Parts: sequence; structure tokens; C-alpha cells
Amino acid sequence: MRNVAIIGSGPAGYTAATYVARAGLRPVLFTSAVEVGGELMNTTDVENFPGFPEGVMGPDLMQKMQEQAERFGTELVFDDVTEVQLDGDVKQIKTAYSGDFEALAVIIATGSAYRHLGVAGEEALAGKGISWCATCDGAFFKDQDIIVVGGGDSAMEEATFLTRFAKRVTVIHRSDNFRASKIMLERARANEKIEWITHAEVVEFSGEPTLSYVKLRDTRTGEERVIEATGAFVAIGNDPRVDLFRDQIALTEAGVIAVDGRTSRTSVAGVFAAGDVIDDHYRQAITAAGSGCVAALDAEAYIAGLSDELLAQVDAAE
Ligand SMILES: Cc1cc2nc3c(=O)[nH]c(=O)nc-3n(C[C@H](O)[C@H](O)[C@H](O)COP(=O)(O)OP(=O)(O)OC[C@H]3O[C@@H](n4cnc5c(N)ncnc54)[C@H](O)[C@@H]3O)c2cc1C
Repeated sequence: MRNVAIIGSGPAGYTAATYVARAGLRPVLFTSAVEVGGELMNTTDVENFPGFPEGVMGPDLMQKMQEQAERFGTELVFDDVTEVQLDGDVKQIKTAYSGDFEALAVIIATGSAYRHLGVAGEEALAGKGISWCATCDGAFFKDQDIIVVGGGDSAMEEATFLTRFAKRVTVIHRSDNFRASKIMLERARANEKIEWITHAEVVEFSGEPTLSYVKLRDTRTGEERVIEATGAFVAIGNDPRVDLFRDQIALTEAGVIAVDGRTSRTSVAGVFAAGDVIDDHYRQAITAAGSGCVAALDAEAYIAGLSDELLAQVDAAE
């Protein structure tokens, strides 16, 4: 049996692991089988993570976080967690190929995934003109013509924010009925740098080596046309990775794991959550890392309060 099991290898998981390991609790961390390192593995320059004045490549940053977690004794399991049993003093964790594990505390740091449009050219040009995060990448698009795809609050927020950098921002939406709140929509409509193409969906992105063109289809007539754009922000939603836990743990209305105030404590004793999986708003590497630290400290305090009988099981098994 382990003291602490951490699920997820993004900034939240690795930061939690570094703290838990330095506290001498030898955590086990499940990285996932194919997405080791989390969302930052999908990006190039990260210019807003403190400590890197020249910026750092996303994969390099994650490699360093992994090494730091390992340096203090984190055991990495390069596998997916497929099932968990979270109630009771001893938490059960099943993996796809690496067997079953038990732990006294679990830190969930499974992150979230931006929804993709699923159209031609999107994956090939991801990070080469196509982005999902204006806070992260907006500054790379100074004086450019960019589009924002979506009709909700986050699309309005991204479009408005992007006008600080872009020459022109065009919002592309499938209908003329916007899900965005009235205030967000009005703020975007009042912005002279924002143009609107409604009743249109993106069917293809193209350009070599970076994005140059976006093919649109009219949702009423089916007619297609091509517009020029060197940047595209896809703002059609974000799904926290909560499927494994949704029947066992309380979620918020927004669908992220609910935690108690500024702590990482979930609705289940001994289960803590950190990073984008608890965050429907900020979703940055530094906020995820900070919340991983909080989860580690909460888990350490929880373990310290357990009975000698339970703690003896950990020592006996290791
Ligand atoms: C393209 C892009 C560019 C970005 N650029 C920036 C930037 O410049 N600056 C910035 O601050 N932020 C940026 N972000 C946001 C940042 O990446 C996230 O906020 C941050 O990675 C969240 O960290 P996390 O640890 O919560 O989750 P994640 O990084 O999403 O990591 C979660 C990990 O858990 C794993 N996992 C999920 N389920 C399981 C399971 N069942 N078993 C095992 N493992 C599992 C996942 O595979 C993943 O590896 C960017 C995001 C994207 C998509």
C-alpha cells in the first residue's frame, strides 16, 4: 500500500508529487499511457511560466517537472488509471496494464481537454496558427487577422481579449443565436475590432507551414468560401477529465471536481483534486502547479492524522 497516489502528469500532478515526495511519503504517480506530461506537451513556446525569462518549450518544461518529481523518490507508472474505488480508508486504483494499487490518499490531477472542431487541417496546424487559449497564445498574434470560433461566453471573452493584439478579430458562429451572456455579447459587439460571420462553420484549415486560410460553409445554404486568417482560436468548450470519478465524487455545475474553498479537499475524505480538473476559469500551468502544491499539503496533513494501524500497513507493504 502507498501513502499517496497521484493521477495525472501535468503541472498539477508533478508539483503535487514533488511536494509529497520531499515530505518523505514516496508517492506513486500514474502518468497516463500516451499523454505523459499533460497539455503543455502540445505547445511550443511557454512565455508566462515564472523562472524562464526567455520562455521555455512546453515539452522541456514538463520534462524538468518530471525529473524534479523523480529526484525526490516519486514512483512513476506510465499507464492509465482505468477504475478507482475512493470511499473508505484504503483507496483502490486499477490500471490498464500495470496491475492494481492501494493508497491512503489520492490526488486527482487529470486536467481537462479543449474541444476540437474535428475538421481537416486542425491537428496539423495546432500550434502553427491554431490555438485553444488566448491567454496563453494571444501575444503571438500581434497585428494579424485572426478568427475565433464559437458563440459562448468563452468565445466572447477570447475575442475581446485578442483585440489587444490583433489587427482584426472575426467571430465565426454556426447561427445568429449566441449562447453567450448578454453582457459578454454586448461588450464584444461594441468592440470595433471585432467582425462577425454568422451561420457559418469551419470545414477546413490550410496553410504551409502555418495557417493562412480557413474554409467556411454556410449552415443554411451549404455554400463554401475561403477567408484569409493567420490565427484561429477554437473556443467551443472544455471538458474536465472526470469520467472515472463522476459517480463517486461531487462535481460543480460547471462539471469540474468540487473542492472545499481554497483547499483541494473533495467530497470524499482522503481524496484531493488539483489543476484544471477543478478549474473552469483560470486553466494555466502556473495555477495548476500552485493547486498541485495545495493538494500535496492537504494530503500530507490528512495522512498525518491517520491511525497508526493504517500507517503501519503502508510501511509493511513497501
Ligand atoms: C495548446 C495549449 C497551449 C497552452 N499554453 C499555455 C501557456 O503558454 N501557458 C500556460 O500557463 N498554460 C498553457 N496552457 C494551459 C496548460 O497547459 C494547462 O492549464 C495545464 O497543463 C493544466 O495542468 P494540469 O496538471 O491540471 O492538467 P494537464 O496538463 O491536462 O495534465 C493532466 C494529465 O493527466 C492525465 N490523465 C488524465 N486521465 C488520466 C488517467 N485516467 N490515468 C492517468 N493519467 C490521466 C492526462 O493524460 C494528462 O497527462 C496551454 C494549453 C494548451 C492546450
